[in-house]
Amino acid sequence: MEFYLNCSLKTSADPAVAKDAIAKIMAEAETGILAKGAPVGEGAKIKSWSLGDNKINLELTSGKNVRVHDAVLRLRKQIAEALGKSKIGVRGLDVEKFTITVPSHHDLKNKSIPYVKSVLFDEKAQTLCLELDVGESEMKNQVPDRILTLLEDKIEQVEYGAKAEHWHLLWESEDRPFHYVNDPTEDMLKSGWLKRGAGRGQWIHGSASTKLFRTFEKIVVDEILTPLGYNEMIFPKMIMWDIWKHSGHAKGIYPEIYYVCPPKTRDPAYWEDVMDYYKVTREVPVELIKTKIGDPIGGMCYAQCPPCWGFFQGETIAKDSLPIRVFDRSGTSHRYESGGIHGIERVDEFHRIELVWLGTKEQVVETTQKLHERYMHIFNDILDLKWRKAWVTPWFMAQEGLAGIAADEVTGTTDYEAPLPYRGKDGEWLEFQNVSINGEKYPEGFNVKCQTGEPLWSGCSGVGLERWTATFLAQHGLDPENWPEEFKKRFGEMPKIVKFM
Ligand code: ATP
Ligand code: MG
Ligand code: MG
Repeated sequence: MEFYLNCSLKTSADPAVAKDAIAKIMAEAETGILAKGAPVGEGAKIKSWSLGDNKINLELTSGKNVRVHDAVLRLRKQIAEALGKSKIGVRGLDVEKFTITVPSHHDLKNKSIPYVKSVLFDEKAQTLCLELDVGESEMKNQVPDRILTLLEDKIEQVEYGAKAEHWHLLWESEDRPFHYVNDPTEDMLKSGWLKRGAGRGQWIHGSASTKLFRTFEKIVVDEILTPLGYNEMIFPKMIMWDIWKHSGHAKGIYPEIYYVCPPKTRDPAYWEDVMDYYKVTREVPVELIKTKIGDPIGGMCYAQCPPCWGFFQGETIAKDSLPIRVFDRSGTSHRYESGGIHGIERVDEFHRIELVWLGTKEQVVETTQKLHERYMHIFNDILDLKWRKAWVTPWFMAQEGLAGIAADEVTGTTDYEAPLPYRGKDGEWLEFQNVSINGEKYPEGFNVKCQTGEPLWSGCSGVGLERWTATFLAQHGLDPENWPEEFKKRFGEMPKIVKFM
């Protein structure tokens, strides 16, 4: 890959008086300031330079190390010092041409990238030509670096296929025959357990399936949260952009979030025409409402843990408070699943218990290990499920639109998946929950430190109650007679089902 920059440093007077000093800086730069921090021979290079009318022209190239925009800022500093002796100032930077070339065998679908004028593809590489207003402040703010990262991510996505998640089997329970092969959602509807909500992908759970949810919750509380010392917290459910900027979600979740817009004012007079329109027509005037609401301030809860980080943000945590183990079950999560919605298992409004843990690397790894053991006990000994575990693309990468796996072997996500017998022998398995070690990502993203200066790690796990229910019922059916004893004991009596005439 290559960066190319042709630019000029504007000077307050003719720089010719300092020609010798400038020549000396240029002669020494490639082995000096432009090599600093780079492997031998891999610093930035000066392709040409010349003095002009109140400016110094520069042509620079570089690879990944000491990139041209970094190089020009280093040169600018030295040149400014040299010119200062002749009372000449450097007034700014004019970019003539700035390109980034990255090897690639595939063209990009979307070439509209901020600060990028054009993208050229020649079967071997992508060449991005940056806008000329990428100036000093954009260079200092690492805009060219972020463009490169974006380009590399896009190329990787095209090459691996946008949805190609990494998947590696870790454990699988033994095969077993299934006696119930219906789609449980259909049977739940027939049995009066459920009704469709007014919204897409939304259900009204009657007392039977609600009791199932609550029994699963109780199992999680009794078998995991209490013995492992998790304390309950309440995380916000309307998520502001700032949270998603820190968590990384702002990079990729736009197609799947439900947006939140506040009214422009709560003055009833401002809304009177909306109210009057409804009173007369019995139609809600959606177009008129659109003109009266503000810009989206964020979205509804998507992944449950990011807003909890606001609690720790900017803090230094006492060593004896670690590891921190908390959970939230205070509200719904929402995703626009579009055509993907199915039954109770893939919905736009769902319920999760989210576990979050935070500590040193050792504490986080140990906590995660214990959690895996407890889940194994629940799924094998209480729910008696057929299931498996797989090492997959870390959820935070998937939600930022990335494929692949994390750089180290400890950071990452384990998906828990189960077959749904009604889908047939070769049907897709359902991810019913996952457990992730997120490394330093969140403490770094939210600037959380440990008293001792040790790096902080974190993990999270989302228990999807709809997914547990869908899995359990798909494998055992709706009749409590056929449920595992350990579960029946905890569930108790089936609540009375409302009969509709
Ligand atoms: P899938 O691949 O099935 O869409 P996901 O990878 O998008 O799942 P995650 O982002 O990993 O899901 O979310 C964590 C957990 O949240 C899932 O394991 C599942 O229990 C639950 N979950 C996610 N999306 C939904 C949904 N649309 N309906 C019900 N539960 C969901
Ligand atoms: Mg999904
Ligand atoms: Mg997942």
